[in-house]
Amino acid sequence: MISITLLKSSVPGIFRLCLMFACVLFACTDDQDSDQTGMDAQLFANPDQEMEAEEGGNLLLKDYTPRTRLIVKKTRIEQARYSVIDVHSHIDNNLNPEDAIRTMDSLNVRMIFNLGWKNNYGEELKRYADKWVKPHPDRFAVMANLNSDIINEPDFRDRAVAQLREDVANGASALKIFKDLGLEWRDSNGALIRPDDARFGPVWDACGELGIPVLIHVNDPVAFFDPVDRFNERYGSLAVEGRSSWKGKVDVTHEQLHQYYENIISRHPNTTFIGAHVGVHYEHLHTVEEWFDKYPNYYVDLGASYKHLGRQPYTARRFCIKYQDRILFGNDIKSYPDSEVYRYFFRVLETDDEYFEHIEPEARLPWKLYGLHLPDDVLEKIYIKNAKRIFRLSP
Ligand SMILES: [Zn+2]
Repeated sequence: MISITLLKSSVPGIFRLCLMFACVLFACTDDQDSDQTGMDAQLFANPDQEMEAEEGGNLLLKDYTPRTRLIVKKTRIEQARYSVIDVHSHIDNNLNPEDAIRTMDSLNVRMIFNLGWKNNYGEELKRYADKWVKPHPDRFAVMANLNSDIINEPDFRDRAVAQLREDVANGASALKIFKDLGLEWRDSNGALIRPDDARFGPVWDACGELGIPVLIHVNDPVAFFDPVDRFNERYGSLAVEGRSSWKGKVDVTHEQLHQYYENIISRHPNTTFIGAHVGVHYEHLHTVEEWFDKYPNYYVDLGASYKHLGRQPYTARRFCIKYQDRILFGNDIKSYPDSEVYRYFFRVLETDDEYFEHIEPEARLPWKLYGLHLPDDVLEKIYIKNAKRIFRLSP
């Protein structure tokens, strides 16, 4: 490679131009390394700008997009090794079930649970069940949501339980609670409602009586409660991509929310709880292990948590093997089954691939992922067997 210094200083004008052209031509025909080719072409196109940007480490964080030079195995998984039941997804009711089934078949996804969009109760739930679940009971299931409009009504308990019974009669297989509980819902005085508030007790008990699990999402990643500064590991998501932080917006901490969450599980032992997103404990899996040991009514799904598991492959692998009966596959797809997102999740669970990117570049994670390479019997339980048992599905 001819250096920029040579081009800039010691070559006469017209010859310099010819030499630059030759270098670009040479770089473009060198297909050994296409990434490097592109970078060289840019560099020669505007050398002064590129050199200045790097001088003194003044490159802006938002512009920093390093490309790894590591060459390691990359596995593409077309279909999951075992049939999959996805217990965590959000399907748009207006889409076509037959299209979704074709995509699911191509991936070896047997069944998808739709958790709704916060309005899955009454007529909306019935509409989904009639369109998706009744014609395809072995491919789709649906979860009910609570009606947030009535949470501050004096008769909330009775109305919520009555609605839940109606929704289960119309085909709901579980109750899904969004993180609104703890972070959004407020009482009539404007204070955040605690997740362990007594008004919800009869709802949790009714789920136990009806034999349906509660798939519950309380909390958010720890970093979303931390100051958005140079120490924040999600600075890229929060400051560059504009994802909203809870810092200064809520008067509750990550730790308090976990305590309220644990109170729900410990006080309602006859109800099965499935913690969405590994219970949002993925930064400290040992807490999930403690809860598993203390509460036999507690399970977790893996919805959207692969980026958190894949950065701690040894810990996550040990966790999945030790608690292989308590973990369910979830994707957290929005709207429609996305083949590439599924394949990426299969790659994290099945392979021993190293140092790969998360599928959402907008997450701007400052870490890379590693496959967990789970044993076959563990995979089969996480993919399908645990969901069959917990949701009492026929073989
Ligand atoms: Zn979700």
